[in-house]
Amino acid sequence: MDMLARLTEIVGPAHVMTGAAAIAAGFGREWTGHYRWTPLAVVRPGCTAEVSALMQWADETDTKVVPVGGNTGLNGGTFAEGAVMVSLSRLNRVRALNPAARTVVAEAGVVLESLHDLAAAHDLAFPLSFGAKGSAMVGGFLSTNAGGSNVVRYGSARALCLGLEVVLADGRIWNGLSDLHKDNTGYDLRDLMIGAEGTLGIITAAVLKLTPAPKAYATALIGLPSLGAALGVLNAVQMGSGGAVEAFEYMPDSYMERLGRAKPALACPFAPQPVNVLIETATTVPGADPVAQLEAALFEAMEQGQVTEAVVAHSTAQRRKLWEMRESAAEITFTTPDIVDCDIALPLDRLQPFLDRMTPRLAALDPQAEELVIGHLGDGNLHYTAYPSRSEAALGQAIRAAVNEEAMALGGSFSAEHGVGLSKRATMAAHKDPVAVQMMAAIKGALDPKGLLNPGKVLP
Ligand SMILES: Cc1cc2nc3c(=O)[nH]c(=O)nc-3n(C[C@H](O)[C@H](O)[C@H](O)COP(=O)(O)OP(=O)(O)OC[C@H]3O[C@@H](n4cnc5c(N)ncnc54)[C@H](O)[C@@H]3O)c2cc1C
Repeated sequence: MDMLARLTEIVGPAHVMTGAAAIAAGFGREWTGHYRWTPLAVVRPGCTAEVSALMQWADETDTKVVPVGGNTGLNGGTFAEGAVMVSLSRLNRVRALNPAARTVVAEAGVVLESLHDLAAAHDLAFPLSFGAKGSAMVGGFLSTNAGGSNVVRYGSARALCLGLEVVLADGRIWNGLSDLHKDNTGYDLRDLMIGAEGTLGIITAAVLKLTPAPKAYATALIGLPSLGAALGVLNAVQMGSGGAVEAFEYMPDSYMERLGRAKPALACPFAPQPVNVLIETATTVPGADPVAQLEAALFEAMEQGQVTEAVVAHSTAQRRKLWEMRESAAEITFTTPDIVDCDIALPLDRLQPFLDRMTPRLAALDPQAEELVIGHLGDGNLHYTAYPSRSEAALGQAIRAAVNEEAMALGGSFSAEHGVGLSKRATMAAHKDPVAVQMMAAIKGALDPKGLLNPGKVLP
């Protein structure tokens, strides 16, 4: 009762939820449904000062706190059994937009898609984009250093952020809302907070970079015989377009077949090839014709046998449909609770060697298991999912370990864009450099000595 009275005092009675109401509002599970919990309470502060007051109270009472944005994360990062969840959804104001400097100051609860719309209204773009854009929020996509489809051109969330405002574990507010592109004044605290998954502080606002809005896109779905051929096409189109490739998304025949079964309207327009790629280029030059340029490049690649099939979008509706094929991936992938979903990164030239090693390894572990691989090919990020034939925890763990081992052996990473959260803590223990883990633990101990912020996440 003391707790509820105090929380109510800080954020107001309309913004405190507990029990069945919190669960019904979606605060008892994450997107995949794999992790479920009952939070002590959910609070929705309306400003940075309220977030600060909440953390002061948490510090005084030793209460664990889990920040939450759109709750679309895929690693159990918002699991909050025995903790108070701080939802940033009411911190949804755009504090300033500066078209001349191409920056926007947005609070943590601003939804990614609304940033897209706002930027477009000023003939600008915020180029981070992925399937959960209608729900993911500024604080969430920065805390996971999200990637998505446009990383090949614009980088991950970290590359698009200039400054941050953060509430620390004891309630102090760090005003790091800088809009400088260069600032070498000591340790980079902004980059430390980005990707920390809520374990070092609660992001309340950010200065984000905007880019010139593309005037025209060229979007195509192409079929190719191999990943090697796909990399050849990527490099050729990058060269010919001056680095204008915005997306290069991998959908092999196994994905196309599942997609066609689940959503016949989105079936592949040609017989699925071993490698199918959604390629998109964009130009900011008025009057330029990227479609003609892309068609010419694809025609040449077809003559050389690198591309075997191609469909080029000639309308916004056709472009939209090609993107729907790619953005259905999460829905197509997360069909049963027993899947082993891995989010790995590899150097671009080691994607095929990874598959060549992993496919037989999966077959050896479970001959009936199915494999589904999609990914952001342009930046070397594969979402490797295995569907074991038996629901056995040990089998799932063995498959996950095999994927991570093969990726690491080829110079890869076991987490490309989804973060570590709860689901990859054991992998952190197995594969992260021990000195790096010690440094991370020292930083956590210095900034959050009581371990109040997002307990049990990220660190092994
Ligand atoms: C359909 C679908 C497609 C997706 N596609 C991609 C993709 O292509 N690329 C990609 O990178 N991700 C993708 N994701 C994963 C997810 O959308 C991203 O991780 C997203 O950035 C999470 O944002 P969110 O607001 O939902 O964060 P949440 O899920 O609410 O939180 C994520 C983590 O950040 C912490 N956190 C949240 N807000 C704050 C804050 N203000 N301060 C400090 N910590 C905070 C949470 O505690 C948690 O650990 C996809 C998810 C879905 C469901």
